[in-house]
Amino acid sequence: MFESDTRESMRVLPRIIQPALTWITGKPLDANEPCLILPTVLDVIVTFAFAVGNFVFLVWLAKKETVVALPFIIISWLFLVGFLRKMQVTHLHHAIHNRLFASPRLNRLYARVLPSLIFVQNGIEYRKEHLEHHNADIFTTAHDADAAFLAKLGFIPGRERSELWMNLWMTVASPVFHIVFARARLGSIFLRNGPVETLLALSVALGHIALIVISGWKIYAIAILVPIFLLYHISALLQFLTEHAWNVGDGPVKNWNEYKNRCWGRFCGETFPSRHRQSHSDSAFAHATLVCLWAAKMILVHLPVRVACLVADLPAHDWHHLAHMAGQNSRDWTRSLYLRQTAIVDGDKPNFSRRELWGIYSMIEHQFIWLQSIKCTYSLLDTKKSSNVEEFALDSGEQK
Ligand SMILES: [Zn+2]
Ligand SMILES: [Zn+2]
Repeated sequence: MFESDTRESMRVLPRIIQPALTWITGKPLDANEPCLILPTVLDVIVTFAFAVGNFVFLVWLAKKETVVALPFIIISWLFLVGFLRKMQVTHLHHAIHNRLFASPRLNRLYARVLPSLIFVQNGIEYRKEHLEHHNADIFTTAHDADAAFLAKLGFIPGRERSELWMNLWMTVASPVFHIVFARARLGSIFLRNGPVETLLALSVALGHIALIVISGWKIYAIAILVPIFLLYHISALLQFLTEHAWNVGDGPVKNWNEYKNRCWGRFCGETFPSRHRQSHSDSAFAHATLVCLWAAKMILVHLPVRVACLVADLPAHDWHHLAHMAGQNSRDWTRSLYLRQTAIVDGDKPNFSRRELWGIYSMIEHQFIWLQSIKCTYSLLDTKKSSNVEEFALDSGEQK
């Protein structure tokens, strides 16, 4: 399902819209394409300010008793989720790698404060789990926290593709999933956190209560509950699910070749309909229809995914793991989307160009086909003895 010429197919489009296409897709057309990168401190401040502005806008919209507000509420939800995810999966992520700011003290401070503000896993636990994720002995295995969480939700090797799709729909609609996710976040913040961080989280919680008392449940649900919990969980699930070739049924990767094969780029878009690919009998009208369909999907499917799920540097998450193979430094994460392209032009030692997934459907489908391809060998007796899903999954073996 890897595609190689999708971004290239958009080269026929006017140069003026190429920067927008680079932003939406997450992949530059050319390595030397001019790019606008905010200084990190400014990016952190702007992201936080936009999130707060979005929240205030949602409160204002929620007070309007009109259906006209509904599309704006939905758009605002997507942006707010995107800003929150960017704070966690980009800023906090690089803070715990000690590379968000030049100062280690500032990185530590950000990792202590941010989780208490938006109620995500505390910095110490996140740092431990994420650095383990980078460890080749743990990466993508049952000991990888992300892989284990997905396994707990039923995304395990050996299940059929159709079963996994059904499991995905049932998971996102399940109150149990949202309660388990919220409980994990809140437990980390309120029960297993430092005293200062817990106090900060408590003061934010008081703000939540004040909003309910002053404005009522409806406004709280629209401005907080849906975007900060429900949609946040779905966004995080789709990002985890498509991030790597998870395999809780296999041991650690044996070499760098296996390691890089469990990474890939994820881009938001699809091939632009080219006239050359159609027969001469195709009319201009048919081509125009395909172009309109492509544009509609870019705006209604791929753009929302980029805004709310695959935010910031996530499309090039493979580069985050493999930059050193291309002689680059993953500390240059702010330019990762462009450096990934440079690596491709400069010989592509990590094989980035051979592992590119386009569109959220292909990303999920790719993961499910991979999980389905892993042969599980276990007996019913063994599964009864096993106390949890991870143990059960450990009994499986990868098909050669
Ligand atoms: Zn990392
Ligand atoms: Zn990763």
